[in-house]
Amino acid sequence: MKKQFVFITSLFIFILSFSQTTTKTLPQNARPKLVVGIVIDQMRWDFLYRYYDRYSKGGFKRLMNDGFNCENTFIPYTPTVTAAGHTCIYSGSVPAIHGIVGNDFYDYTAKRKVYCSEDKSVQTVGATNDNGKMSPKNMLVTTICDELKLATNFRSKVIGIALKDRGAILPAGHSADAAYWYDSKVGKFISSSYYFKELQLPKWVQDFNASNVINNYYQKNWNTLYAVATYTQSDSDTNSYESLVFGNDQKQFPYNLTRFIDKKDFGKIRSTPYGNSLTFDFAKSALISEQLGKDSITDFLAVSFSSTDYVGHAFGPNSVEVEDTYLRLDKDLEAFLNFLDKQVGANNYTLFLSADHGVAHNPTFLKNHNLPNGGVVGSEVDKSLNDNLKSVYGIDSLCIGSWNYQFYLNHTLIQDKELDKSKVVESTIAFLQNIEGVDRAIEYSKLEETILPRSIKEQFANGYYPNRCGDVFVLLKPGYIDDEYGGKGTTHGIWSPYDAHIPLLFYGNGIAKGKEYDKVYMTDIAPTLSSLLHIQMPSGCVGNVVKGAIKK
Ligand code: ZN
Ligand code: ZN
Repeated sequence: MKKQFVFITSLFIFILSFSQTTTKTLPQNARPKLVVGIVIDQMRWDFLYRYYDRYSKGGFKRLMNDGFNCENTFIPYTPTVTAAGHTCIYSGSVPAIHGIVGNDFYDYTAKRKVYCSEDKSVQTVGATNDNGKMSPKNMLVTTICDELKLATNFRSKVIGIALKDRGAILPAGHSADAAYWYDSKVGKFISSSYYFKELQLPKWVQDFNASNVINNYYQKNWNTLYAVATYTQSDSDTNSYESLVFGNDQKQFPYNLTRFIDKKDFGKIRSTPYGNSLTFDFAKSALISEQLGKDSITDFLAVSFSSTDYVGHAFGPNSVEVEDTYLRLDKDLEAFLNFLDKQVGANNYTLFLSADHGVAHNPTFLKNHNLPNGGVVGSEVDKSLNDNLKSVYGIDSLCIGSWNYQFYLNHTLIQDKELDKSKVVESTIAFLQNIEGVDRAIEYSKLEETILPRSIKEQFANGYYPNRCGDVFVLLKPGYIDDEYGGKGTTHGIWSPYDAHIPLLFYGNGIAKGKEYDKVYMTDIAPTLSSLLHIQMPSGCVGNVVKGAIKK
């Protein structure tokens, strides 16, 4: 009797504990049905808070309040530009390993300037020009999307989308099903034969392109969402330092866009908030038509919003135009999240939102407020450097040019003329150090012995890939920009926090609610996703997992 009682009791305990584990714990290999990567081109971290009061409940605020917010996320390399940023986010790697050292760079092996995603061996699909001769072949590592493909024996679907080719191609990786980007010459989303060997876009893309969507946006023109006087976070709309992207006669809101229908200028939409709306439209079409997130095998949508960068360059971060662009982006984001809830299911997707880099203020704006500022005109420096080197060595064009604040010396010429390269480097440094706005000029090979804060040295070392980088780089003073546009608008690219501090929000399936104030890096995004998805991290990954972001 006693024995029987013990047996029944232990059986009961056994069943109870078994039922508890099966009802409470998800299988160890559980994955969301869909991962959505959102990169907002040129989004500074402070934009999350700067416009917070006027954001809707369901856009940025939903991600901030219900997701995991990494408040101090930094870019661990320079130059802080689009191609390097997108590659870093998706590969967890740095230019020193992944090789995408800039949007453009000089390649000493190819002996010419190279565009990050160019590929002359492929053809444009969807147009008859060269804007589709693109692929990820210059990127030397895998991305998180490639690793998802490998982990599922290529059964996952991966699609990259952006107005900019590099914002679509590099994230989606080498094994993507497709990347689509906007061809401003024809006003259509196009791709390349790298993805479509049969040289034809899918039917849904052809239908989207035939829908007159660009002109419909132009018909709306661009006025502010709210009364201009309520844009108290921004400078006056009639300041002198904004570019006149919509024509010399259009100096302020409201901007007439219908004129671009007649002029057949499909490029202007990129410099309006409608470029983001167009990207959302296309992403929604992709989700529906490609049935992303509809079966048990995890898919990946990598989408990047480029218009924030075009608007930001033209008007600067303190403009009504940028404020309005973010308020509208927030509304589009809210609608997109609601769409994902319906299309994929509220708890079936994991999402992250980050940026490829931030941006500097316009120097005139800074000057008006007594803040350190200035501009250096890169092309003028190139010319005067060569003039100076000629005066010393009697030889023309000893410097091939500068890209990404790096000066590429002509090694072949130096060898042919039997010059001492170290002397030419010395002369180059001596000249550059005297340029107004240049804090220091440093030879890459002397970086280790240069006295500089360790973190800044690391940023420069992480940005250096042999044969794709110059011999000497310059450290601009904070507040100084490479100013090719006569003081109009602004740019990004240096190590400073305004360029390198970016938002990072994780949200959805598998993500804990919370905040992290410790410094994390752009390189941590991919390994965090790898952990969440139980897949191998990308082949050049140097980042760490943001442990707090993952639900225990
Ligand atoms: Zn960018
Ligand atoms: Zn930019």
